[in-house]
Amino acid sequence: MKMSQSFVKTLRQASSEETTKNGALLTRAGYIHKEMAGIYDFLPLGLKVLENIKSIIREELNQIGCEELLMSTLQNPEPWEKTGRFSNQQVDIWFKTELSSGGELGLAPTHEEPITALMKSYVKSYKDLPISAYQFQTKFRNEKRAKSGILRGREFLMKDLYSFHTTPEELESYYDKIMKVYQSIFNRVGIGDITFPCFASGGIFSKYSHEFQTLLDVGEDTVYYNQDKSIVLNKEVYTEEVLNDLGVKPEELQTANAAEVGNIFKLQTKFTDPLDLKFSDENNVEKVVYMGCYGIGVSRLMGVIAEVYADDKGLVWPESIAPFKYHLIAIGDEGIKTANELYRKNPESFLYDNREGLRVGEKFADADLIGLPQRIVISDKTLAEKSVEITDRKTGKSDLQLLSDFS
Ligand code: ATP
Ligand code: MG
Repeated sequence: MKMSQSFVKTLRQASSEETTKNGALLTRAGYIHKEMAGIYDFLPLGLKVLENIKSIIREELNQIGCEELLMSTLQNPEPWEKTGRFSNQQVDIWFKTELSSGGELGLAPTHEEPITALMKSYVKSYKDLPISAYQFQTKFRNEKRAKSGILRGREFLMKDLYSFHTTPEELESYYDKIMKVYQSIFNRVGIGDITFPCFASGGIFSKYSHEFQTLLDVGEDTVYYNQDKSIVLNKEVYTEEVLNDLGVKPEELQTANAAEVGNIFKLQTKFTDPLDLKFSDENNVEKVVYMGCYGIGVSRLMGVIAEVYADDKGLVWPESIAPFKYHLIAIGDEGIKTANELYRKNPESFLYDNREGLRVGEKFADADLIGLPQRIVISDKTLAEKSVEITDRKTGKSDLQLLSDFS
């Protein structure tokens, strides 16, 4: 991407309402634009980061045979009435709207009910199971507090996966498989070492669910963990009974703030029962389908990664999700000629700061703010060595690298 061709500009300051690093830096660096509290636009660079995160998740899920679909955002109240989640206070974060012809509609806060209803068209026999289907979808939640940048949105991007099984045992082993896949996703996006499966309350049908919690100062949750972090639990479930179950003593635990980047549930038959999702088994006996659900907050994850890696100069993206690998800056006529050539050969790799009338210092400051993994400078000086200067954003270390390495 050539910076001269983008409508986006970096900003000297974000609004004072942006009290978190992710909100302030992502705004200043031109990744996001705020519409209202908890409601953001993703600008070209921000969209690229989201897409890179999505690609990693997609790759990991497709590898274990999950199928991607895209469900509607406008939701029929009918299946929600059957589970009692449309009209009562259980889901207090609904945004609702109305049809011009009369009747209420919901704006997707999540998709357990619609996907269970959808599966009724396709699940008839044990031969149709197991099924695992996921989507990347915009969710709407009328959150009371939305002041942590993109960590808590009223509109946000979620990956939601749902699995359907013939037995609780099969659900159990699938759940364990997803735990591993999630860990590998969080490793690949760069936060594996500070993200842990965390015991959380499981609702009515299973004792625990697991949240994936990333240790983070501005995280809204409080977690307790033992020394090697093999046991992590949410403060919300901290009881004597839970500690007994997990075999830890209060004095072994430390506490920290954390952000929930994912959440996985064994729903058992919580939704399939009221929505009557059944299959016939080998003996033609009708049975209720077992179900699990597995979420990742994709836009929150982007905000968490921004928070974790940022320094006093700006953002610092892990290469796996950075919008581009290189931030390209040319000095002098020869430098510009060579940079143009480099860019032409491989435009996908470079954010090329070819803007005219800016001092090099200003371009360097923007490169630090935008936070691509490596800055490349081409000048007469580097060209005299048939090289470019590469500076690592994270360490600040510079090196010359042969120009020929890039062709
Ligand atoms: P939280 O406890 O943070 O309110 P939740 O338990 O309601 O989240 P789920 O319904 O399990 O969340 O959604 C799956 C994932 O979506 C969460 O793990 C989180 O990463 C993300 N998420 C939930 N609510 C929001 C939000 N308002 N903004 C951004 N991401 C969110
Ligand atoms: Mg939660």
